[in-house]
Parts: sequence; structure tokens; C-alpha cells
Amino acid sequence: AAETWLAGEAARAAAPEAAPAKTVVELVKVRKSYGQTEVLKGIDLRVRQGECVFLIGPSGSGKSTLLRCCNRLEELSSGDVLVDGVNIYSPHVDVNRLRTQMGMVFQSFNLYPHMSALGNVTLALRHVLGKGREEADAIGHAMLKRVGLSDRAGHFPSQLSGGQQQRVGIARTLALQPKVVLFDEPTSALDPELVNGVLQTMRELRDSGMTMMVVSHEMRFAREAADTVVFMADGAIVEQGTAQQVFGQPQHARTREFLSQVE
Ligand code: ADP
Ligand code: MG
Repeated sequence: AAETWLAGEAARAAAPEAAPAKTVVELVKVRKSYGQTEVLKGIDLRVRQGECVFLIGPSGSGKSTLLRCCNRLEELSSGDVLVDGVNIYSPHVDVNRLRTQMGMVFQSFNLYPHMSALGNVTLALRHVLGKGREEADAIGHAMLKRVGLSDRAGHFPSQLSGGQQQRVGIARTLALQPKVVLFDEPTSALDPELVNGVLQTMRELRDSGMTMMVVSHEMRFAREAADTVVFMADGAIVEQGTAQQVFGQPQHARTREFLSQVE
């Protein structure tokens, strides 16, 4: 596994010099409390175009809350979240549109059980983006093809494996042409033999240049796929760096302790 990610690092390091990619998502001093409990304690984070950022850390450290702040599923206690320089907590922001641009993939898939795979993928295309049925269906079929499910368009979620359901969930998100895809433990609910198909879909998405923020306990995958690894504990970022830095030379005892438990 080490060679795999070293090869990836080396390949990227050898890429021709270019201006740093533009910032797509920026969290500035983000704080979030539930009642008396502060679960995000001043998060500063910048995600660049095409970057694949993994958020790792113990359960309860605030990873899901941080992701949810990026598409306004949470209200902040203070701080700002900017997407392409626009404050997404501004009252002028259309939240439904925002969520098409900051697409989220959930651990539990969240598919509608009474709708086919195609129906799930096209729902927001039709009702949020206002596409007609024909155009929505064409996009839907293309997205199902992209995640390897061309032949499952008419299947209902109950007729699909967990891994296939999650790939429908990813297709649904991609259909909306998001700027960023937010993954919250996308493989945690899957039987082990179904995990790789979903990781392969994520790998292809990453390689296509999609900007991604991923909460995951798949450390081998993080080593291979992450441009940046962010380690969180107790609502704060403890350290961040390349996968090579954070996994290879963690700077903080807290990080070392966490990695020794999960790897
Ligand atoms: P992680 O995803 O890293 O496991 P979360 O972001 O889900 O962490 O949760 C961070 C903390 O916030 C936890 O202590 C959790 O119990 C608390 N929390 C999350 N959601 C809520 C909520 N809706 N109400 C109260 N506390 C919450
Ligand atoms: Mg979580």
C-alpha cells in the first residue's frame, strides 16, 4: 500500500509547475454549539479546486458537523463559510440551489424506496433545477452509466445491493453538476465485499478532477486518494498535511494515538 500512495504523491509532485488552484471552499473561524456543547471550536480550512480532502478523527470530533456546515445543513454559531468567495450563510443564498452545488453523499444512502434508481437520480434535476423529463432522464442514464449501473435504471432500492444503492446516491449527486461533493462515511454501512465498488467510483471521481471532502474510516483509501488529510479531535483541527505527512510523520501525539487504533 505504501508504494501505491508514494507513487501517487510522486506523480503529483512531478506535475508541471502551475499556479495554485483557486480556493473553492473556505471555512473561517467556524464555531458551532448545540446548547452548552461546542462541537466546532474555530475551524479554519481551505479547499482548492480539484482537491480531495479527507477528514479523519475519532467519533464525535465534529467531522459530520463540519461537512454539514459546508452546505448549510447547520446554522453556525459564528464564523463564515465561503463557496467561490460567496458567504453561503447570507440570507440571499438559495439553499436548495446551494445544496445542488455542494452535493452530499450520506452513509445511509437516503434513497426514496418507492422510486426507481433513475427516479431517484432525476428527482432533484426535475424539481430543483427544473429540467424536463426527457432531459432529466438522459442525464440520469448518463450518470448511472458513469457509476457502472446502466442496467439498473429501473430497479428499486430494495432490489439493489447496498453498494449499488450508494452508487445511485453518488449518481444522484453528480447529476446536479456539483462544485464539490461531500461524502460522510459513504462506505460505513456496507458489507465489506461491497466497499471496493464504491471506493472505485470515488477514485474515478477524484481522478476526473472533482473537488471532494470525504469523512471516512478507510485509512488505506485515504492514503491513496487524499491530497490533504485533516485530523480532527474535540471540534478542532489538530493537524493537516499531505497523506504522506499525516500518516507517515504525524506531528501530534493525539494523531499518533488515533492512527495506531485505526490502522
Ligand atoms: P463525528 O462526525 O466526528 O462523529 P459529529 O459532527 O457527528 O462528529 O458530532 C460532534 C459532536 O456534536 C458530538 O458530540 C455529537 O454528539 C454532537 N452533536 C451532533 N449533532 C448534534 C445535534 N443535532 N444535537 C446535539 N448534539 C449534536
Ligand atoms: Mg460523523
